[in-house]
Amino acid sequence: MSDPQQVPSDARPDAECSRAGCRNLAVWAVVWRNPKIHSPDRRKVWVACDEHRDFLRDYLAAREFPVVVERLEVAAGVEGAT
Ligand SMILES: [Zn+2]
Repeated sequence: MSDPQQVPSDARPDAECSRAGCRNLAVWAVVWRNPKIHSPDRRKVWVACDEHRDFLRDYLAAREFPVVVERLEVAAGVEGAT
């Protein structure tokens, strides 16, 4: 049986914030990579709630990692009108 949920747990919309101990719903994607170990086309994604978006971004920026914050596409739980 195939598993439709086979996506990295740190890159899933509707996820909990990546900040340790935070159980808030993540609404931001913090996209980053470590230039020392990741190739230029690699994208690591953390997800963050409103409260921790800046924390996570600053954590990565302080290490001089390229980091971009994007709004998470939140699945509304409503299927399209097809
Ligand atoms: Zn959080």
